[in-house]
Amino acid sequence: MTACDTALVSRLVSLLLFLPALAQADYMDHFAQRDDVGPHKAPSLGDTRVLLIPVEVKGFPPIDRAKLERFFSPDDPNGFVRYYETASLGRYRPRVTVGPTIAYDSCPLPAAQFPTCRVARGDINSFSAGIDLLRDAVKRTDEQLDFTQFDVSGRAGTPDRWADGVMLLTNVPFGGIAFPIGYFNRGDNLAGGTNGPLMADGIRIPHVAVAGDTDVFVMVHEFGHLLGLTDLYDEAGNYAGLQLSFMGAWLYDQNIVLPDAETRYRLRWANWLQVQGRQRITLRPVETSGDVARVGIGDEYFLIENRGPGAFDKSLPVRGLAVFHVDRAVASVTSQGSFPKLGAKEGDFVNRILDCVNCDAWHPYIRLVQADGAFDLEANRRFKAEDDLFRAGSSLLNDASNSVRSKTNPSNGSNLYSGQPSGFALNDVRELADGSIEVTLDAPASGQCGEKLCAEGDGCAPVQCGEPPAKTGCTSVDGAPLLAVLLLLEQRFGRRQRR
Ligand SMILES: [Zn+2]
Repeated sequence: MTACDTALVSRLVSLLLFLPALAQADYMDHFAQRDDVGPHKAPSLGDTRVLLIPVEVKGFPPIDRAKLERFFSPDDPNGFVRYYETASLGRYRPRVTVGPTIAYDSCPLPAAQFPTCRVARGDINSFSAGIDLLRDAVKRTDEQLDFTQFDVSGRAGTPDRWADGVMLLTNVPFGGIAFPIGYFNRGDNLAGGTNGPLMADGIRIPHVAVAGDTDVFVMVHEFGHLLGLTDLYDEAGNYAGLQLSFMGAWLYDQNIVLPDAETRYRLRWANWLQVQGRQRITLRPVETSGDVARVGIGDEYFLIENRGPGAFDKSLPVRGLAVFHVDRAVASVTSQGSFPKLGAKEGDFVNRILDCVNCDAWHPYIRLVQADGAFDLEANRRFKAEDDLFRAGSSLLNDASNSVRSKTNPSNGSNLYSGQPSGFALNDVRELADGSIEVTLDAPASGQCGEKLCAEGDGCAPVQCGEPPAKTGCTSVDGAPLLAVLLLLEQRFGRRQRR
């Protein structure tokens, strides 16, 4: 089901002990900040050129190149490119080159440790052997391809000498991992030096998304890590993890699921509607509109989006509102002391793998609030869109007891994790013929409009906060006086100006 190999945890942690203090930036930090596109993240906006390296080992089911090229071409409606273009509202447009197949006559991993070439999840030996394999595959690809073509973008949208994204797909049985080789490499960097990112034609490769069994769907998830996303399923298996997210509890069938609202919001792929006061809002299907309503500010808030079957999310039998309760302040205590799980300090990703941000079903980083209030997901029962999405007749209100929600106190209120009221309420859901959903949302009455994710660009700021200004055709934020002036003008000049 999942993708990330949680291998080598103890070894990773011991490595951390002697790593120098580094910049405040990390792999897979769910865009706690994104100034580190390049060294820690692949660009997730604009046009990029991504490389896929097929690695075929004799004795395992051969790689079907035609099938592979189809899945990674923009022509496959169910493929990698169309998925990311759809999920991002066309804001992220990767183009994938399927590199020459790198063939091995025998297993490229040390026979003593991997007699059948099968890499079990959590196998500590695969760590160093994996680095050697990645290095060799990049080196052999570099002999045949010019890597400068795989750097057309970066933090500023221009070439930055960091690869836009590199994937390695092998036919060997292996679950999948997004491997920050730049962080772990202590050997040859392929450019005459040692340590750090691999280099090819002057282009640095800081991390590689790896999937085995030629499983292209696992690769879609692993590539999400390269964009900065963390795992949202529960590796510990207490429950499945976050539903309705390709970084979460996605069973790898042919239906790729869309990103959860928080992922979309953080990647700046959303059409962000900040709610203030009581508003009747129309949320169009998120797949085509990107509409995400946000109630609350700061680290803890709710996101609401319209999910249903479309080009993706095909397995959803019904349409409804998905409500996500987000708490970016989720913290953990490990043997290394107390860490913020979403901390952006380099190396924190190891901690997130160890003790994942979504593993506590009752207080994860992102929790799907279920309309039926039955807490089936927390009890590791099945996700059922019919019951868990908010549809006609369902609502979400404050629980007046203001108590902390837990397994022994499963109150399905809109309260914060502290138990205190959030000011959020959801009422009067109505699905329209075109798939849009009208809903009445309550949010705190003031002070909701000041937040931004970034200075400028798509998704940086709410496209709307509070009631939209009256449709006067003018851009003034102060609608009422403007309307009065226009009415005066109309009286004076007749109806010519009416639109
Ligand atoms: Zn993963």
